[in-house]
Amino acid sequence: MILELSQLSKAYSQFDFGPVDLTVDEEVLAVLGPSGSGKTTLLSLIAGITGLDSGSILLDGRELVGQPLEDRHVGMVFQEGALFPHMTARENIEYAATASDHVDELATLLELEEVLNRKPPTLSGGERQRVALARSLATDPDVLLLDEPLSSLDAPIRKRLRDELHNLFESLEIPILYVTHDQRTATALGDRIAIVRDGGLEQVGSPSTVLTRPTNRFVARFTGNENLFEGSVTDRAADGARVRFGDLQLQTTASDISTSAVTVCIHPSRVEVETPIVADGNRSVNTVTGTVARWLNEGSVYRVDIQIEAGSLTLTANVRPPTFERLTIDNGSEIQVLIPQESIHLIPELE
Ligand code: ADP
Ligand code: MG
Repeated sequence: MILELSQLSKAYSQFDFGPVDLTVDEEVLAVLGPSGSGKTTLLSLIAGITGLDSGSILLDGRELVGQPLEDRHVGMVFQEGALFPHMTARENIEYAATASDHVDELATLLELEEVLNRKPPTLSGGERQRVALARSLATDPDVLLLDEPLSSLDAPIRKRLRDELHNLFESLEIPILYVTHDQRTATALGDRIAIVRDGGLEQVGSPSTVLTRPTNRFVARFTGNENLFEGSVTDRAADGARVRFGDLQLQTTASDISTSAVTVCIHPSRVEVETPIVADGNRSVNTVTGTVARWLNEGSVYRVDIQIEAGSLTLTANVRPPTFERLTIDNGSEIQVLIPQESIHLIPELE
């Protein structure tokens, strides 16, 4: 199955969606964007819940535009499962099922056997979302659309269900669009990520490309690239451009930068820190000294703000707890910062 959207557009009185071109193969496309950017609109247009103004939606070459909802074979799961409260979990799933033996198969797959005879108000949030998912899969959809299905759940259940979904999605072999405003969910579940802003697509690519090679500042900020600086290219050697920003001049691996003015973008997870002594022993290119300005324990990483040398700029590094503890980092600590050449991404600044 392959889903091909072309020139899809819809105008509301206060909001223009599209035109959007997008192809989704048998993969999970995570649709990531801020609230109000048009993520739900995109799904509603594909499902046929919202009528479009223009464009085409091809599913394996079959035009969906103009077809009623029930003929589109599109499964949809919403933030709040929207189950029938007076029916049991089993009845909710059966209501949609193409064949009744399907229900038990799905119940096993989604670990729902124990709760099949209960009604939605007596189920936990996680169980309700699994029933909603079973119901949408019971229709044997050719495309699956999920609109923030986990966002109403508590963190531990959300993480567990996310891991389960990952395995389930792999087995489905249909195009899946998964809407979220959470970057971690997007990178965990998406084979590719589409970044949505103001009704348009800003960038579509693999999670690692979108995270470390954002095409503009909006994508960079939205994916946690907090280190963004105005810079200028000073030298274009064959092995990569050199860039100046603040008082720093660093070597990059960028070889295709056409402009002189650039935004220097360095993801905090790509910045390495070391004690002054150890790093002095094998001081390499792109090693600079700095002073810790502040730090924050974010659980799985420490976020450390480092005032660089002459004090012209502050760089944020995500530091793993063992490294943080080994270096006994605190405010005022002197520290060496290594910025690997390949971790410096340059975004051309067009006039
Ligand atoms: P997201 O899901 O990314 O939060 P939506 O797709 O729900 O965003 O909404 C995008 C924009 O479209 C919002 O500004 C919203 O107000 C507008 N919008 C959505 N549905 C309607 C509607 N039925 N009528 C008018 N405006 C709408
Ligand atoms: Mg929405």
